[in-house]
Amino acid sequence: MPDCIFCRIAAGEIMSPRVYENGRVFVINDINPVTKVHALIITKKHIGDVLSAGDESADLYKDIFDAVRETARIKGISESGFRLITNCGEDGGQSVPHLHFHLIGGQKLGVKLV
Ligand code: 5GP
Ligand code: ZN
Repeated sequence: MPDCIFCRIAAGEIMSPRVYENGRVFVINDINPVTKVHALIITKKHIGDVLSAGDESADLYKDIFDAVRETARIKGISESGFRLITNCGEDGGQSVPHLHFHLIGGQKLGVKLV
């Protein structure tokens, strides 16, 4: 196993309560939230980033989008809205090189870059 913080959380070596879990992904609250709701949708398998995810099966994509929908429902932000972000590489500001998506919301979000 690579020495990777999200792999260690996935393996249960580091405890982090699951907000939601399905076959291929799990969801935890970000340790350093930037908004009232800040969840991380993380693949159980070590995949470096969204570019590498292109080699995965469609089952993974389904589990990711199921997790988005269910996490938004559990957090009560399906109606109010949210933002889904994945950072990639140096310019993207990715600090943990294991595929994950930030689901942020629970408040009006600031500047839209795109
Ligand atoms: P990135 O910068 O790679 O897009 O996002 C990594 C995110 O993981 C950051 O928002 C950071 O706060 C979060 N994070 C890093 N280590 C941990 C941890 O041990 N537990 C949790 N819950 N979040 C973490
Ligand atoms: Zn990993």
